[in-house]
Amino acid sequence: MHGHEHGADPHHHAHDFDVVARAEDLCRARDLQFTRLRRDVLETVAAAQGPLGAYDIAERLSVPGRRVAAVSVYRALDFLTELGLVHRIASRNAFVSCAHEHGAGEGLVFLICRTCGGIGETTAREFEAGLDRALDRAGFKPASRIVEVEGECGACRERQV
Ligand SMILES: [Zn+2]
Ligand SMILES: [Zn+2]
Repeated sequence: MHGHEHGADPHHHAHDFDVVARAEDLCRARDLQFTRLRRDVLETVAAAQGPLGAYDIAERLSVPGRRVAAVSVYRALDFLTELGLVHRIASRNAFVSCAHEHGAGEGLVFLICRTCGGIGETTAREFEAGLDRALDRAGFKPASRIVEVEGECGACRERQV
């Protein structure tokens, strides 16, 4: 099946509350454990306005008398990343949730807003085809093709006029 088609209007991660339902479906279908910690981590990332680092997540999940270790959060994030439920934003070393279904090998472009800190995502097929040709010429086999672009999102730009 083909992945979710990203339109010209980049998707905003802050409202990905259905990502938890998607996680439940995926785990049930693949016979994987959707543990309490995995759920807590995903809910925390999905509810955040911007990307969250593992230590921030551990901090938010810790309550007096019950500390959540960052290493456990990292393991949960690995699991969720593997399933495509969260993405790692390399330039921030932080994570965002994603409710899309990505096709295999689909390149992603993350749109990182410097004003509101929000992360959108989109795909750019024209660009991907060009990138694939360049990689091919270089004899390089990509494991992933994730591009991060910093700038200002549409909502922030509109607020300025
Ligand atoms: Zn995504
Ligand atoms: Zn913005």
